[in-house]
Amino acid sequence: MFTVLDKKIEFLRGMGTQRAELLNKELGIFTYSDLLTYYPFRYEDRTRFYFISEIREDMEAVQIKGKVRAISKIGEGHKQRLVATFSDKSGSMELVWFQGIKWIEKKLRVEGEYIIYGKPVLFGNQFNITHPELELLTPTNSQTGYFQPIYSLTEKLRKKFVDSKVLYASMKSLFGEILNQIPENLPLSLKEKYKLLDRNVALYHIHLPQDEKALMHARRRLKFEELFYNQLRLIRQNLVRKSEFQGQIFAKTALLTRFYTEFLPFELTGAQKRVIREVFEDFKSGKQMNRLLQGDVGSGKTIVGFICMLMGIDSDAQTCLMAPTEILAIQHFRGLQKFADSMGITIEMLTGSTKKKDRTRIFENLKNGDLKIIVGTHALLEDTVEFQNLGLCVIDEQHRFGVAQRAKLWNKNLHIHPHILVMTATPIPRTLAMTLYGDLDISIIDEMPAGRKPIKTVHRYDSRRLEVFQFLRDEIAKGRQIYIVYPLIEESEQMDFKNLMDGYESISRAFPNEALSIVHGKMKAADKDYEMQRFKKGETSMMVATTVIEVGVDVPNASVMVIENAERFGLAQLHQLRGRVGRGAEQSYCILMSSFKLGKDSRKRIETMVETNNGFEIAEVDLQLRGPGDLSGTQQSGLVDLKIANIAQDSEILKYARLAAQSILEDDPELEKNENTVILNYVRNNNSGGLSWSKIS
Ligand code: ADP
Ligand code: MG
Repeated sequence: MFTVLDKKIEFLRGMGTQRAELLNKELGIFTYSDLLTYYPFRYEDRTRFYFISEIREDMEAVQIKGKVRAISKIGEGHKQRLVATFSDKSGSMELVWFQGIKWIEKKLRVEGEYIIYGKPVLFGNQFNITHPELELLTPTNSQTGYFQPIYSLTEKLRKKFVDSKVLYASMKSLFGEILNQIPENLPLSLKEKYKLLDRNVALYHIHLPQDEKALMHARRRLKFEELFYNQLRLIRQNLVRKSEFQGQIFAKTALLTRFYTEFLPFELTGAQKRVIREVFEDFKSGKQMNRLLQGDVGSGKTIVGFICMLMGIDSDAQTCLMAPTEILAIQHFRGLQKFADSMGITIEMLTGSTKKKDRTRIFENLKNGDLKIIVGTHALLEDTVEFQNLGLCVIDEQHRFGVAQRAKLWNKNLHIHPHILVMTATPIPRTLAMTLYGDLDISIIDEMPAGRKPIKTVHRYDSRRLEVFQFLRDEIAKGRQIYIVYPLIEESEQMDFKNLMDGYESISRAFPNEALSIVHGKMKAADKDYEMQRFKKGETSMMVATTVIEVGVDVPNASVMVIENAERFGLAQLHQLRGRVGRGAEQSYCILMSSFKLGKDSRKRIETMVETNNGFEIAEVDLQLRGPGDLSGTQQSGLVDLKIANIAQDSEILKYARLAAQSILEDDPELEKNENTVILNYVRNNNSGGLSWSKIS
């Protein structure tokens, strides 16, 4: 259905084909609708004019009416600048240009009256503004102030003189043409319930705000709208999948009971039991499961994954467990092999370094169905890996895998898609989880196994290293083991590697009687594993490593984690690393080492670590500090693509938007009711995310 919003921007008054083409190419703005939803990212307050005498040093920017009294050029060549004395009845100041002097010189008239705008800087005892915006004073612009919306633009656009002012003018022209033809996309009931502006009014004020209050209401309405449609799509996807995709039924419990009574080495926590029940409900439902299992590091997700696998195997399905790294895959394999062997269940491991001969055997046994559990890395995704009947995929540490990988596993059984259980220890703030994984059902393990003591975390400057070393000696004397972790990032790999080696040297000197292990990314997988095993068996007491040990490694006797250059790690990473200790019954410690010089954000990260052990609190701070775009994995996933809402700041709005979307779909899943026609029309016209709004059936 063609609406006025689908009109091409070249037909907009004052736009012109050239400019339209630029906007097509540079910003992907083709239609009226694209232009309308190209929101400003900030505003400059031009609502009031200041007197020169009112200027204060801490002002971001000021707008002033005044007269140019004198113009002079100072200096020579590169250093030349143009200086104009500018005054109003309250005082005078200087305007300075270093660039485009010729052009300004031509334009500027002594005794001419102008409106200027820019950031004032105190120089000596006089204010000046460098490269101010400049406009001749006219009877119209001298009266009315306004908010200047600022749009993000490209270099190329600026070069062609398409700036925020030009877009502002285009918006004016656009609203002049279509203000009353912009279709609403929220039902009246929602607008009333949440006190939201009409869509056209909100769009108008987001581009041409009359005052702060109007802007605030406009923002709120558009954020709500965006999050509402985001949630509507995710919830709908979930509903469609549940009704469309059959899942294998795993309702037997004999194997599980045998495991519980004969082999389970500890009592499961209440949270673990609850999650297993949630999965079991899914397994009995006949619908395909897509579940995200979140649980802080050390909360015991692996055993839950294994128990779910047992349920599948009991019903003659095959299962796989995929880990993000080889070290982790090996560790999972060894952990599960014990149980599998004693229960007579076949299990194998497949990674990039699996030998050809083993590979052939594994492929065969997967295809003929003899092999029940396969543990591995992304090697499992290859097309050569075929199953007879894959029933469940457990994916560990999801943030390392994208949505595409999930889909690949899912297609390994075309006859009936396998159930998917995604496990992650990367605590995701609720709001982010909702927007990222809103299409998954979520289970949470929010309880640690009994008997764990909270890890004590401290911050020490490098100057106290000797003291720290003494502490480590004391712990080793008690029979504990220690991790010492160094940062290693690609951009500074050479330097970091040297840093790690220097560190290793100095630790060998400081601990001459201790056997040390070292693990870093440049080592072969087999060597890494060898060192890990030595450490795990207690043959070495200290493990010097880069972040390769970040996820999942489990050595319960290791009780001290020293993190060197802690200021260089992100919060999520620090928390992951700390999670390597605190797994046994002993008191564990995390020591964050840093230099004296700490930036504001680094300090906040370290302080947060010292203050709390709670992964979700940490994730919240991380989200505030870094914004959602930076959180691990979310960038690549492309799922969080919001134009105006900000998940770090708008969690409240998100909550309401989700509730609203939920209740509408519950009441009217096909959007057939009259009052929901506006929604249906909007979804159809903006086929967001390629979701077809066909019958659920
Ligand atoms: P994560 O959730 O970080 O993957 P793991 O599954 O590696 O955690 O479990 C951490 C450690 O806790 C392992 O040594 C595991 O055997 C142990 N564990 C798991 N559940 C329990 C429990 N209910 N009681 C005691 N120990 C447990
Ligand atoms: Mg784990």
